[in-house]
Amino acid sequence: MSSPRLEIDFGKIQHNASILVQRLAKRGISVTGVTKASLGSPLIAKALLGGGVSALGDSRIENLEAMHQAGVVAPMTLLRSPMLSQAMRVVAHADVSFNTELDVISKLSSAARQVGRHHGIVLMVELGDLREGILPGKLLGTVERMLRFPNVVLRGLGTNLACRSGVSPDARNMAQLSALVGEVEGAFGLELEIISGGNSANLGWTSSYEDLGRINDLRLGESILLGRDPLHRQPIDGLYTDAMILVGEVIESKPKPSLPWGTIAQAAFGEVPPVINRGEIFQTILAFGRQDTDPEGLTPPPGITVLGASSDHLIVDSGGCRLPVGTQIPFELDYSALLRAMTSPFVAKVRKVQSGPALRVMGLEHPHPVFA
Ligand SMILES: *Cc1c(COP(=O)(O)O)cnc(C)c1O
Repeated sequence: MSSPRLEIDFGKIQHNASILVQRLAKRGISVTGVTKASLGSPLIAKALLGGGVSALGDSRIENLEAMHQAGVVAPMTLLRSPMLSQAMRVVAHADVSFNTELDVISKLSSAARQVGRHHGIVLMVELGDLREGILPGKLLGTVERMLRFPNVVLRGLGTNLACRSGVSPDARNMAQLSALVGEVEGAFGLELEIISGGNSANLGWTSSYEDLGRINDLRLGESILLGRDPLHRQPIDGLYTDAMILVGEVIESKPKPSLPWGTIAQAAFGEVPPVINRGEIFQTILAFGRQDTDPEGLTPPPGITVLGASSDHLIVDSGGCRLPVGTQIPFELDYSALLRAMTSPFVAKVRKVQSGPALRVMGLEHPHPVFA
């Protein structure tokens, strides 16, 4: 099989989605399955829908278009503020888009009018992470002006935290979103349908508080695909963390000194961290690098340590064990590593066929969470 390759277990993705959907349903929250880390893969979309997500969300219109073209049927949300230049494509392929700019909403309304549609708008509110969002003090004014556009409908409010500045969702900012919902409803005599409280980083908040206020939807990508809570990268109870793994192949394997020699300056990707002299090690090179993934986001099997990487080489210490050329080694990924592997044309994407919790390669058992 060609490598590097991402082995995708659609059954595990569906399992992860369904566990989160069931847990959140008990709290009155629906799940929008986020497909952006998968380039809008229709197979991943189907796994999410099979797990019970009620809508699909992506930040790129190209991915929503790809899913439509592949025959995926589901309510579709564009999670990033639309570009003015893409308004026509947005009304054609998204039922709802997240918005913060009246100029964009105006353009969406005229585009929707041209094709005889009404486009749904969720207004995003800034609650401190300083990425997208209307400042709370400007929300009522924005709603008032957007309600004048004929072919858009205000479907709800949303917010996004944790992505840019690491601001965590908590009782305070979530209560503020609920309060804003009340203010908008009171001021304009309408009922908002979608209150989109955030992303995978909101899961901790849902399990820490009794009262979740008006929040009735979360947009989940990373937690479903990787089975981890993005705030602390801890495995989520009952979810697989190895639904997607990256497999690379060994191209050099030699005992080498752990210390480089010669005059040390910068390496290909900047400063090199100081190395500790551990004498001679089994140094192994795999045929993939920064062009294929984010080496800092890889978790190797037990006994293997990532030492460094350049564009096309990943250098590992294989501990006491020599890994012959040709050995295939599986790695778990974080979100950054997954995103880069998914978008690299050098990484093959393959369906993982064998069932069972672990992939056995040369006796290396890949770690997976204890399954509750
Ligand atoms: C990417 C994204 C999400 C999904 O985030 P995860 O951490 O992958 O769950 C949700 N909302 C918005 C606006 C996004 O851009």
